[in-house]
Amino acid sequence: MNDITIALSKGRIFEDTAPLLKAAGITALDDPESSRKLILSTNRANVRLIIVRASDVPTYVQYGAADLGIAGKDVLQEHGGAGLYQPLDLNIACCRMMVAVPEGFDYDSAVRQGARLRIATKYVQTAREHFADKGVHVDLIKLYGSMELAPLVGLADAIVDLVSSGNTLRANHLKAVEEIMPISARLVINQAALKLKRDTIQPVLDAFSAAIKK
Ligand code: ATP
Ligand code: MG
Repeated sequence: MNDITIALSKGRIFEDTAPLLKAAGITALDDPESSRKLILSTNRANVRLIIVRASDVPTYVQYGAADLGIAGKDVLQEHGGAGLYQPLDLNIACCRMMVAVPEGFDYDSAVRQGARLRIATKYVQTAREHFADKGVHVDLIKLYGSMELAPLVGLADAIVDLVSSGNTLRANHLKAVEEIMPISARLVINQAALKLKRDTIQPVLDAFSAAIKK
């Protein structure tokens, strides 16, 4: 029987994934939120979970250290998707990637006037493509978190970040002005593993597919 490894991140991805795993007959033997283990056994002897940073999931799967993984479209877009088969939109961890600016900033008029904008973001590649497509000149500043702070202290004119309720933006006197793309988490599979371990992977794929909430 083929052994398979599934890469997941803690937090909202794991929360939303647990029901899908259950539908595929897979249950972790330890709770990843409380356990310090990074490799978790499951009720199935041939399936294990590894717990990695959300943005590292595509890398583990690309190199075959994990056969399957679940990662946000934000993360996959930034990674580029090399070596990954992306068969399923799981319709979980849904939000939107948006451009946001301080409440008093007239973004449309700045764009019309051809102003050069300083953009702070964790998503440098995706932001670069978005503004290049719009023909807007930007200087991109890479951050690793708390993007909302950047315009408040003069680091940037605007940010590119994930927005769900908009509460964090509002609390920091920012407003979303443009959607870059809708975001949800996807199943990713190592292309070689899919060929070599299809007998084990296909049933997991089918169970996930049947359990997705439309
Ligand atoms: P870390 O917290 O380790 O730096 P992270 O911030 O990428 O990593 P999470 O905040 O758990 O980790 O986000 C994981 C994924 O969940 C993101 O890549 C994205 O796809 C999705 N996500 C992030 N923010 C939201 C949100 N507000 N609503 C819904 N889904 C979100
Ligand atoms: Mg986070």
